[in-house]
Formats: sequence, structure tokens, C-alpha cells
Amino acid sequence: MLAAVFVLLPALIGVGAYQLVYHVSDQPEYTPLMTARFADQLNEQEKALSELDQLSQEQFRALTLKLAQAQARLVRLDALGERLVEVADVGSDEFDFSTVPGLGGPESADEGTSYELPSFMEAVDQMAVTLERRERQLDILEDLLADKQIEDQTWLSGRPLTKGWMSSRFGRRSDPFTGRVAWHKGVDFAGKEGTPIVATGSGVVTFSGVKSGYGKLVEINHGNGITTRYGHAVELLVEPGEIVRTGDVIAKVGNSGRSTGPHVHYEVLKNGAQVNPQPYIYRARR
Ligand SMILES: [Zn+2]
Repeated sequence: MLAAVFVLLPALIGVGAYQLVYHVSDQPEYTPLMTARFADQLNEQEKALSELDQLSQEQFRALTLKLAQAQARLVRLDALGERLVEVADVGSDEFDFSTVPGLGGPESADEGTSYELPSFMEAVDQMAVTLERRERQLDILEDLLADKQIEDQTWLSGRPLTKGWMSSRFGRRSDPFTGRVAWHKGVDFAGKEGTPIVATGSGVVTFSGVKSGYGKLVEINHGNGITTRYGHAVELLVEPGEIVRTGDVIAKVGNSGRSTGPHVHYEVLKNGAQVNPQPYIYRARR
């Protein structure tokens, strides 16, 4: 019995010790080295995650900014639409550009970053709906503007001054500054300084500012490749993007730029090239 204890007990202890050692070495995750390595890996993953989070935050901010810019464009589109409705004289509810309430979205980049994700997605959805509606309205407006009624309104005729006289014709003349023969690209109408300069046709103002040689200049696009220019003004009364009708006062006669006295230098351009304005001046108003 005692022998059994002395033989079996050490044997059991031996097996137990072996098993203990075996198991410990079989489970390396418990060694301090492995634990440290795991901690490192975990740190790296956390770092990668926070980098990803930062990246998506940046992307989100960029998207928000884009949304704000698109909303600003929509506001301008609305303003243009409203003015087109005015010019086209279509009072239909179809063109009530105020039917969809404003998005109340950010106007500047700073405010744009304050979006939370759900409200951001909501704003994007609302914008898609509004854009679709605007597109439909503008499509119909475009059809209307192609109509004869509108074509009549953009039809050029008459003089850019109601009070004044033609002082220089289109074509070859001696340059008033150099005395040399030069090509005059427009028709001059002399008048008292401050005399109203009127649009000779309806259209969209594409330039209003100082242009070399022209002084203070207004340029109007009438569609169908026709543009008119009114130079040497003392004062400009319209802004680019503004829609003007025939007879609207757009500037006042002056002596700005390359000019020897108060007059308006009037040009008619067809597809970007100056043509003789006289046939346009003398033809009947439709
Ligand atoms: Zn001239």
C-alpha cells in the first residue's frame, strides 16, 4: 500500500506536471510577449478605424459643402426662372417658383459643416425633388421662349437713344484719335451726357462693366446668336444676368473709354462678329 503511494503518487505528480507544462506551452496567448503583441495589433486596428472615421468625416464635410453650393445655385436658378416668367408673360401657377418651401440649408461653408447625417440625407432628398421640379418648369419655359411671341420680343429694332443723332456710321472711317483709316465696328449716336441708353431688344445682360476701348459697356445677348453692345456710358444701370426688355434704360450716355465726346457706340454682333447695325436700326418693330 505504501509502495503504491510512493510509486503512484510521483507518477501522478509527474504526469500532472507534464500535463501542466504541456498545456501552458500549448496556450501561448497567455505569455506576456503574446499579450503585448496582441495589444499592439489592437492599437493598430483602433488607429486604422479612427483614420477611417476621420476620412469619412472629411468626405462628409466635402459633401455638405457641395450640397450648400448646389443649394446656392438652385436659388440663382429660381431667380432666373422668376425673371424668365416675367419676360415671357406666363402667369400660370405652373411657374410658381415659390411652391416648394426653401430648404433652409446652409449658405456658407462654415454652416455647411454643422449637418448631422440624417438631416443631411433629408436635405439631399429634398434637393433632388426640387431640382426635378425646376427642370420640368424650365423645360416648359424653354419651349415657351422658343415661341414666336418671345422671338418678337427679342427682335432688334430702333436706336439705342431716344434723344440723339447718328454721328458715325459702321465701316471704314478715319479714326478720330489717329486720323488714320480704320474700321468702325459700330454706329455712334451722339447725345447729351446722362441721356438714357435703351435696349434695342429683349435679352439677358451678359456684361456690364469697363472694357478696354469701350469704357463703361453693357452687352446684351438676345438669343439666336445676336448680341448688342452699348459703349462709353457715364453710368451703368444693369447687372450681368439681368433680363431686360426692349426699351428698358440700361445705362446713361457718357464719354468713358476711347471717346471724343458724349455718345453711345452701338454694336450688333452676329455669332460673335460685328455686323452693320443699320439694317437692324431701320427695320420695323414687330
Ligand atoms: Zn463708335
